[in-house]
Amino acid sequence: MLTKIEHIGIAVKDINIANDLYTRILGVPPYKSEIVESEHVITSFFKTGESKIELLQATSPQSAIAKFIEKRGEGIHHIAYDVPDIATAMQYFNNNGFKLLNEQPKRGADNKLVCFIHPKDCNGVLTELCQEIPLS
Ligand code: ZN
Repeated sequence: MLTKIEHIGIAVKDINIANDLYTRILGVPPYKSEIVESEHVITSFFKTGESKIELLQATSPQSAIAKFIEKRGEGIHHIAYDVPDIATAMQYFNNNGFKLLNEQPKRGADNKLVCFIHPKDCNGVLTELCQEIPLS
């Protein structure tokens, strides 16, 4: 059902500084930068081989990223898994007692439908399911 790790999300305080740093680490600039209004975040995405890194900076104090950094500091925020069909994946995890943080798939960054699973059900790791939105 999960086909691969789609990306790893890293919470950062300053996305411009982090973009420069990760450009040096990965040897390529971000291929995309996107504001997700509903989540109060600005994101940027890097590709390294087949893998992706997502940097997230809060755009308001009510953002989950702001709260995360306040509690735990900068660092790995979530692991995202690619799923071919998010509705089926959500039903599977719901039926197996995992707490989903949203009842309906929601629109995430990078052209994805996403759903998060509570970290307490995943050994402390916020887990994201994401499905590519087909280009129409
Ligand atoms: Zn993500």
